[in-house]
Amino acid sequence: MTNLGKKALIKSQSSKRVAWVSALAKPAVGIAASLIMLPVIFGSTPVMAQKAESTPLNYGQLIKKVKAGEVERVELDEAEQLAKVYLKGQKENTPPQQVRLLAQNAELINILKERNVDFGEVSSANSRAAVGLLINLMWILPLVALMLLFLRRSTNASSQAMNFGKSKARFQMEAKTGVKFEDVAGVEEAKEDLEEVVTFLKQPERFTAVGARIPKGVLLIGPPGTGKTLLAKAIAGEAAVPFFSISGSEFVEMFVGVGASRVRDLFKKAKENAPCLIFIDEIDAVGRQRGTGIGGGNDEREQTLNQLLTEMDGFEGNTGIIIIAATNRPDVLDTALLRPGRFDRQVMVDAPDLKGRLEILKVHARNKKIDPSVSLEAIARRTPGFTGADLANLLNEAAILTARRRKEAVTILEIDAAVDRVVAGMEGTALVDSKSKRLIAYHEVGHALVGTLLKDHDPVQKVTLIPRGQALGLTWFTPNEEQGLISRSQLKARITATLGGRAAEEIVFGKPEVTTGASNDLQHVTGMARQMVTRFGMSELGPLSLENQSGGEVFLGRDWMNKSDYSEEIAAKIDSQVREIVNNSYIKSKELLEENRVVLERLVDLLVEQETIEGDLFRTIVADNAQVADEQLAVPH
Ligand code: ADP
Ligand code: ZN
Ligand code: MG
Repeated sequence: MTNLGKKALIKSQSSKRVAWVSALAKPAVGIAASLIMLPVIFGSTPVMAQKAESTPLNYGQLIKKVKAGEVERVELDEAEQLAKVYLKGQKENTPPQQVRLLAQNAELINILKERNVDFGEVSSANSRAAVGLLINLMWILPLVALMLLFLRRSTNASSQAMNFGKSKARFQMEAKTGVKFEDVAGVEEAKEDLEEVVTFLKQPERFTAVGARIPKGVLLIGPPGTGKTLLAKAIAGEAAVPFFSISGSEFVEMFVGVGASRVRDLFKKAKENAPCLIFIDEIDAVGRQRGTGIGGGNDEREQTLNQLLTEMDGFEGNTGIIIIAATNRPDVLDTALLRPGRFDRQVMVDAPDLKGRLEILKVHARNKKIDPSVSLEAIARRTPGFTGADLANLLNEAAILTARRRKEAVTILEIDAAVDRVVAGMEGTALVDSKSKRLIAYHEVGHALVGTLLKDHDPVQKVTLIPRGQALGLTWFTPNEEQGLISRSQLKARITATLGGRAAEEIVFGKPEVTTGASNDLQHVTGMARQMVTRFGMSELGPLSLENQSGGEVFLGRDWMNKSDYSEEIAAKIDSQVREIVNNSYIKSKELLEENRVVLERLVDLLVEQETIEGDLFRTIVADNAQVADEQLAVPH
């Protein structure tokens, strides 16, 4: 797992830059679970009880009676394990005596033969079959019932289709959200912009008196979890107006026309409750550029969007309704939505910076018992790239852990554990000493050592063999400072260190022994190298942008149109450049590890023994041991 995704490479708001991690991941082996249904066998077949007149015989007595010559005739029913015994001198119409047989009745049969008793076999196979049929029927009945149920459901659904939209309003209304601006932190600029909206709702006459037209719509743009929904609620809370909310995906339904009627309904209700605020989450689900759907487009979506545009044009600016929409893909929105008079205001809600994270942590620490020794600032430093939702989740995880450990207050130990967990997943138990544990150790130390030896690389925070999530071992790096921009040398250093895992495997165990564990690393490396060539103009192809930001996502509307705007020839050149970057970095990585083989071995021994090495100790060992340490630590790349 590496949080050094594509997005981390641009000056991006949305990537977790820290805690980017290199990991030896388990190969994804899917085990197809097959579902086998075993019918339960109901009891044994019922015995048709027939009452014998005299005291019933048992097996032993039957044999005695046969030996004594008292028995006229015996009918054996192997299937039922019953013998019908006709005694000598018995009246014509008295029913035979029934005797339960054993599993094997060879003895009885021998005696019967010996004594010349008439015996025959009857089989109740017919009744068996009937019972079998009955059991099968018992299975079929519930199935039929189930089918009937489904049938009824679907008829219900089609009758619903007649009055959808009206009764099944999917929007929610909150009379009071109870959220205030002070609950939203770390997005000061957005808050300033939106304070104005509160005034529009509270005192519209202040604006209309001077002839100003009050804007109808505000578009909140930002990655998930940055507090867009929270901000919209805070506006409604501050202005003390009702809050109507619906998600864009809820407009788009199975039935054509539902979306449009929902829009109509929503606006009708809102007008009745004005002044109020309408919040449309994920507006890109309906508001995507029209007419670009592949394979016929989506009529339903277009109708919904048209209805939305009509409604927005339909009311005057001073009716006291303000629409706030949220998206993280403003680039795919239909231009008609962004026109003045619609969502003409756009507010960016970015992932918070250091100060912002500290403020958000303060907000969420308010209702938690945190040990006074915990420095929220230190946490904020450890979590670049975390959004408000991540931070809220982080403190919550730490609180849960504290409760589980039966402590009074959250300490830094729980918070550290929670950060690791939020970033890399659940902790597993370390392997026992084995060849694969050593291999994982070489792999991880390979990352960490190459990262440490390269001047442009972020420092190692820790290396560990304790598995987490999909990863069997992890190397954590922390960037020194918040960096929005990443240089070419930094990128190359990252590629080289990410290849360090595979390089170490190959050096130590030889080419035939390298494992699938590096697959994740290789994916990241290829991604980074490709972006260097096609997006950042960092190769011999020159400063060209050869791919558009969201390349590869065919279904995202507009993007499809201007994809692949280069020739085959350039495509081949791109490939060869990518390969050159990766291959050179791999060679570099192997060189560094071979030169420092002694340190590599020492660190691996220590790691296998201790399972975790902290960054400071790691660096001390490298500095003490590398013969060429001084130059090496300053290797320009
Ligand atoms: P979005 O709508 O942008 O995806 P949300 O507003 O739903 O994000 O945020 C989810 C949760 O994360 C909020 O309920 C809140 O607890 C927390 N959160 C997100 N951003 C912030 C913030 N800026 N300040 C305080 N809490 C936040
Ligand atoms: Zn790795
Ligand atoms: Mg949201």
